[in-house]
Amino acid sequence: MHELLQIGTFPIPAQKLIDSEFRCHNRRDLEGDEVLRNRVRGIITRSNFAVPQDVIASLPHLGIIAVCGVGYDLVALEAATRRGAIVTHTPAVLNSAVAELCVGMLLSLLRRLPEADRFVRAGSWRHGAFALTSNLAGKRIGIVGLGRIGKEIAHRLESFGVALSYFGRTDQNLRWRFEPDLHALARGSDVLILAAPGGRETARMIDAAVLSELGPNGFLVNVARGSLIDEAALLDALSSRAIAGAALDVFDNEPDINPRFLALENVVLMPHIGSATDETRLAMARLTLDNLHCFFATGTTLTPIDAATSV
Ligand code: NAP
Repeated sequence: MHELLQIGTFPIPAQKLIDSEFRCHNRRDLEGDEVLRNRVRGIITRSNFAVPQDVIASLPHLGIIAVCGVGYDLVALEAATRRGAIVTHTPAVLNSAVAELCVGMLLSLLRRLPEADRFVRAGSWRHGAFALTSNLAGKRIGIVGLGRIGKEIAHRLESFGVALSYFGRTDQNLRWRFEPDLHALARGSDVLILAAPGGRETARMIDAAVLSELGPNGFLVNVARGSLIDEAALLDALSSRAIAGAALDVFDNEPDINPRFLALENVVLMPHIGSATDETRLAMARLTLDNLHCFFATGTTLTPIDAATSV
């Protein structure tokens, strides 16, 4: 059985699968055990755990870092390249789950569904009707990052009768309108949806200026990474109603999110659950393990990260 360093925890069914196919060690097992460090040729982790430079450097025969998740912004890629290690991830198998959550968050935000549920539970209904909310139909939706997940979101939203535009580094010549200027996209949208990768290039791209372009009737939905948003600017914009509201699945400093979010009425807060369904998490674990098996058998992998677009 090949030996791996496991960083982070997996849901129980996924962990059972991993343990039936590989022998996993944690960081503490490896400390001070040079023989073991020499035997470990792979790391298995999830995309919300960091794989730092010093860990990569401590494994002389490391050949693969298998990330369970599509984002790999927490992997020290330069150190991995220096070590000659391939980094793999699990694209595509989670598209539906993340797109479904995004649509659910958007509807929750516009129709204020969590608040409406609380209203009924608190017995407030007998004192008067719930406030009127906003339609999704007819809204102008701007998607920032129209990749695998962004396209699945767009396909699903089309059936709601919205007008779709997208921003990215390239015009993909699709039936949706490409907008090369993020500020113009924000200005021309009722809702901005973030689905671009985290990392240096996209860090804090949604800042006070973009939020001000989105305006007091504008909504923001983030299923990408917290790092895309200047969180202090967002909190200010939400508190002052410079934007109408936000639905967020990802944050800076998860799970210890900024407590200012908790006091706001105009937010829908999710605990980073984009891919968190039984079916999807098992499919992600399976692909992660298949990448590892493929590497140990052939030296190649099924879904390596695209180094050309690495963050
Ligand atoms: P993808 O297929 O690589 O799509 C990313 C899109 O972002 C591409 O269309 C790309 O278009 C655009 N992009 C890249 N760099 C950009 C930049 N600097 N500025 C503007 N746009 C840029 O990735 P995916 O599979 O759809 O996943 C997207 C992200 O979702 C992941 O990286 C991950 O962080 C996040 N995610 C979150 C969850 C969750 O639980 N909430 C789950 C899975 C994934 P161009 O190349 O044309 O710029």
